[in-house]
Amino acid sequence: MDFSVVSPQNLSQLRNAIRTLQRKPYRIGAGYTDLLMELRKSDTSDLTVINLAQINDNGLSHIKSLVNHVHIGAMVTATSICMNDDIARRFPTLQQAAANLASTQIRNVATIGGNLCTASPSGDMACAIVALKAHCVLMNVDGKKRVVPVVDFFTGPRTTCLKKNEFLYKIILPRNHKQTQHIHSGFIKVGTRNAMECSVVSLAYHIQVEESGYVIDAGIGIGASAPTIRFAEKAALNLIGKNMQNFTDENRNEFAKKVLTYASPISDVRATSWYRKEVLYNISKSVLV
Ligand SMILES: Cc1cc2nc3c(=O)[nH]c(=O)nc-3n(C[C@H](O)[C@H](O)[C@H](O)COP(=O)(O)OP(=O)(O)OC[C@H]3O[C@@H](n4cnc5c(N)ncnc54)[C@H](O)[C@@H]3O)c2cc1C
Repeated sequence: MDFSVVSPQNLSQLRNAIRTLQRKPYRIGAGYTDLLMELRKSDTSDLTVINLAQINDNGLSHIKSLVNHVHIGAMVTATSICMNDDIARRFPTLQQAAANLASTQIRNVATIGGNLCTASPSGDMACAIVALKAHCVLMNVDGKKRVVPVVDFFTGPRTTCLKKNEFLYKIILPRNHKQTQHIHSGFIKVGTRNAMECSVVSLAYHIQVEESGYVIDAGIGIGASAPTIRFAEKAALNLIGKNMQNFTDENRNEFAKKVLTYASPISDVRATSWYRKEVLYNISKSVLV
């Protein structure tokens, strides 16, 4: 591979680099765990990589906990997410997704921005971000920001709504409901082995429950089950107003069936479509046990 690299030191240099390169082939590089694999397969002779790793900007590289939101910069690594107490306490689904990604070495460099921008249907952190109904903050070369719900960020397998003059700046997680005493939140990943493995099927859930047991809000994301990560809206809505302590087998089956309506998995070397649907059905039911 013989591409050239530019390493902006701040946001304004980054915007200038993108502006200058707009009519030439360029790629953005964050942790490079996906990008290098991709570039290996292509002709890179005329390519410039804009390296984000040396940019000094808190918005891009820090986690900021506010009362109503948590902001996660696109350059925050899976390891930093795993180690953040606020995320572990308020958004366990994301903490578990980050902890389940690949291996320690990969987690130390793999960024949340890269996980979203790769737009793989099996992206682990991306799946949790969908369940959390997060928003993506995109910035263009003029420094103008636009905010899009994460479900609209993915436009197809490995494609996003990012324009040529934009990059992903940060992700905003909305607050949990104030009165929420309990959060039933987690990430279930099924692969062919335990480590260094992309999901065969994954499910992220974030269910907010009142003290009395009633569900007041819910988000369900499914991975590796469709061309993009899907937000299983009807399944999430189906839970609202129900009491977590009184779920029957009938409720669990109804919920799992609704999740399945969002699945259109392919058969590939790792699993058949039939197997993926069976697994998704069963892990969906297990969320409500
Ligand atoms: C061995 C191995 C195992 C893996 N296992 C898993 C796994 O279990 N689960 C999982 O989800 N993933 C897995 N992955 C994939 C990968 O590690 C993740 O998707 C990771 O989060 C990508 O982040 P990165 O910082 O390395 O992105 P990069 O490789 O640097 O970039 C990925 C893509 O995003 C673009 N990009 C990055 N940042 C931005 C930005 N801020 N704005 C615009 N575009 C941007 C790049 O141009 C590129 O197209 C694995 C990869 C490997 C090599």
